[in-house]
Amino acid sequence: MENKKELRSWLDSFGLEHPLVIAGPCSAETEEQVLKIAHQLKETDTTVFRAGIWKPRTRPGNFEGVGALGLKWMQKAKEETGLLTTTEVANANHVDLALKHDVDILWIGARTTVSPFIVQEIADALKGTNKPVLIKNPVNPDLALWLGAVERFYTADVKNLGVIHRGFSTYEKTRYRNNPEWQIAVDLQNRFPDLPLILDPSHIAGRRDIIFDLCQTALDLNYDGFMVETHHNPDKAWSDAAQQITPETLKTYTEDLKIRKETG
Ligand code: PEP
Ligand code: MN
Repeated sequence: MENKKELRSWLDSFGLEHPLVIAGPCSAETEEQVLKIAHQLKETDTTVFRAGIWKPRTRPGNFEGVGALGLKWMQKAKEETGLLTTTEVANANHVDLALKHDVDILWIGARTTVSPFIVQEIADALKGTNKPVLIKNPVNPDLALWLGAVERFYTADVKNLGVIHRGFSTYEKTRYRNNPEWQIAVDLQNRFPDLPLILDPSHIAGRRDIIFDLCQTALDLNYDGFMVETHHNPDKAWSDAAQQITPETLKTYTEDLKIRKETG
């Protein structure tokens, strides 16, 4: 894959700010919850609203998403707030439904990036569209597998791409839910400096108190933006409760990051 400037031009064509702030709940839960959080995020630096509607969970028996029903809620959130929207797609059927409901940006989850045939199926379903796709790193610390997924989209002529660094699982218990292994993302950035690189501090941290520091590290490393899980009532979230922050907290974080950047 060539290192092409066109890889980042979609960010400009969407008029997206630097750093790009994508925020919203881990999972869409109800229409009211989706709309409430989207309206609260409208008052922050967020330009893209995220919500998972299909949630591939590691263990069965947990909430696995509201499904296609949530696409209507996201459409409504977009109409009411003007925020762009993004959701995770994990197969070609999800892609069809997301395209029909006007989702602006798709993302590939960490449990999907590990699976070349599924990645290929999704890339083929998007052939001929200019839909932006953000590819999360695979759950395991394997740069080649991450790059392989990017290449599958690129060679299927899906070129409005970006990558999301969400950390890597380990058997060992650390302070992180998923180890950042910054070097892997930095290696990817060095090889493809024009591929937008976004940090997902929420799934790296697994807890609220280190989200800000992770965002600061990413800015120091010239990342292009963040995807932060945000909920109006984080403790009551149906998934990933411990790591979600309120839109108000997100607002203070992005303001502090901006001030630090300006004052050096
Ligand atoms: C998510 O973004 O809610 C999610 C499930 O992420 P990941 O694929 O990184 O685990
Ligand atoms: Mn989550």
